[in-house]
Amino acid sequence: MAHELALQYLRSHHDQYLTDLTEFLSIASISSLTQHQKDVRTAAQWLRDRLIRAGMPNAHLDETPGHPVVVGSLIVDPNRPTVLIYGHYDVQPVDPLEKWVHPPFEPTVIDDILYARGSSDDKGQVYMQLVALEAWLKTSGSLPVNVKVLFEGEEEIGSLHLSDYIKSHQEDLRADFAVISDTPMFAAEVPAICYGLRGLAAIEVSLTGPFQDLHSGVYGGTVMNPAHALAGLIASLHNADGTVNIKGFYDGVERLTEKEQQAFQALPFDSEAFLASTGSPMLFGDPHFTPLERIWAQPTVEVNGMWSGFIGEGRKTIVPAEAHAKITCRLVPNQDPHHVLDMVEAHLKAHCPTGVRLHIERGEGDPGTKTPLNHPSVLAAEQAIEDIYHQKAAYIRMGGSIPVVVTFQEVLNMPTLLLGFALPDENFHAPNEHFHLNNFYRGAETLALLWNYVGEKDALAFRGDNR
Ligand SMILES: [Zn+2]
Repeated sequence: MAHELALQYLRSHHDQYLTDLTEFLSIASISSLTQHQKDVRTAAQWLRDRLIRAGMPNAHLDETPGHPVVVGSLIVDPNRPTVLIYGHYDVQPVDPLEKWVHPPFEPTVIDDILYARGSSDDKGQVYMQLVALEAWLKTSGSLPVNVKVLFEGEEEIGSLHLSDYIKSHQEDLRADFAVISDTPMFAAEVPAICYGLRGLAAIEVSLTGPFQDLHSGVYGGTVMNPAHALAGLIASLHNADGTVNIKGFYDGVERLTEKEQQAFQALPFDSEAFLASTGSPMLFGDPHFTPLERIWAQPTVEVNGMWSGFIGEGRKTIVPAEAHAKITCRLVPNQDPHHVLDMVEAHLKAHCPTGVRLHIERGEGDPGTKTPLNHPSVLAAEQAIEDIYHQKAAYIRMGGSIPVVVTFQEVLNMPTLLLGFALPDENFHAPNEHFHLNNFYRGAETLALLWNYVGEKDALAFRGDNR
């Protein structure tokens, strides 16, 4: 069978992979530092050359106003499903350098763990995607699916030019779904399919009263104190049990399906350890949901900061002139960010005490995203994970946001599968970043099988209502 040949190929090339990956990781592609601008380009060129060697002859660099993207494609049969593989070849800065046991750009293997900046985030995982394709191309001379690749060099600095690039290359990048390997598994030996992310909406509120801070001995007790007013307004956003008290805020929030509830409950989630990781005295939040359900599938309204009046040393007896708060909402799929901001704004207006003026500054909003669990790409990934890891795949979501996933959904109308093989404690963005090689190898095998199972499915299955 063709896929068995691909797996055999992967299993017999471990030494070569390590040599190549070491070379890739030795390039200091730190996107945020101008002195490494050349290195970033060198990494892009390395990746392009390696893609060509793997069997993707049209791989090339495309310029953006910042660092280039590396793109390429292999269309084997227009009637087969098409996948877009996204990843990034840039890395985070390395300071504090003295905390690294081995220099960050001198990859070192100890006990089957590869230490280097970018080993897990994300060059190691990009390279893992590459070798999974190569294994097919070197054994069958072809792929079971159509593949497009998009590797950027600005992920660690906020993907400054990526969404513009995607918007102006829609036809080149169009696919049935995207796969990203830039996230961790749930835990060691718990390979996971991440199928949902939360969105974000931001708003800033300011209350003003007197035209300047007033002497509290002269004016205290005669005008509304903006700090008091803001405290009351903020308090009105939530109920005592932690649920959000804004009319219409939960509009569109989907109930978890039974399959999802069961999947979350099956995870080895230790709430004691989770609590310990916060340092808070107890967990708190909507009592109708478990902590994982609240992080992954419930929206929040969070005050990120509030300030007013005098906070210096000693005391200053004033009635402050103004008070401010920055608020963000984490959103779940199917909640409309604009509607949410409308509802928050309406609540603030309706609940603002008299005696102060209310100013609202609306920020940006990005929706949450979700790939249906019955999407054929999810089912194929489940099968591939089971074959390689000999256990059921965990279904997880993440409480944060990945902007490119929103762009894929909104601009290219395609869902994204987050299929990462790093571990949560592999020190991304920190000193001594590392990647367990056994997950690198098994990850590559899982991906090679994923393409096999996706290729067995009817392309039309990806183009129906599931998108
Ligand atoms: Zn990353």
